[in-house]
Amino acid sequence: QALDITHLINTIIEAVQPLLTDKHHQLELDIDHSLKMRGVQTELHSAFTNLITNAIHYTPSGGIIQIQWQATASHAVFSVKDNGIGIAPQHLDRLTQRFYRVDNDRARDSGGTGLGLAIVKHVMQRHNGQLEIDSNEDNGSEFRCVFPIYQAVGFNAEGKPSKAPTPQSVG
Ligand code: ATP
Ligand code: MG
Repeated sequence: QALDITHLINTIIEAVQPLLTDKHHQLELDIDHSLKMRGVQTELHSAFTNLITNAIHYTPSGGIIQIQWQATASHAVFSVKDNGIGIAPQHLDRLTQRFYRVDNDRARDSGGTGLGLAIVKHVMQRHNGQLEIDSNEDNGSEFRCVFPIYQAVGFNAEGKPSKAPTPQSVG
């Protein structure tokens, strides 16, 4: 099923707008509106929602949240970047385990269950993709959902555009 990911992202942003306003976060978008993808809408909705709400929660007021949906030659990438509290390296490999939460003063009071990233990882596996995490304690985090380009509409299994280019008239 070809999903309008831009529409999906906009729906999520609308839903979290009160949280963004509450925390005076600034939102920066870098979206390829034409980039559509095959996938399960409900699953991608919950995965992307978790990454965005994490960025909002784990960033002190007045932060910057950057959301990107773009294709490279080989991948379609959804990424959420924040300049929040970040994650110390010793936690990174356990972050996607169910119920795992970083135990620090700033994260403890935010009351999540620790299931969100386990779900994201699972959803990415079901879409032939991967969750990549870059984080520095105190400097923020970037979570990237990296899909093979063949998941995107308009590309074949070799990652080549599946439609022949429009013939150019010569002369
Ligand atoms: P849930 O998503 O189930 O409501 P949660 O947000 O605590 O709860 P996850 O989304 O799985 O669970 O995240 C696990 C832990 O990873 C969080 O508790 C937090 O410590 C850390 N974390 C996740 N995203 C970020 C982020 N953007 N910045 C800093 N820490 C993060
Ligand atoms: Mg979460």
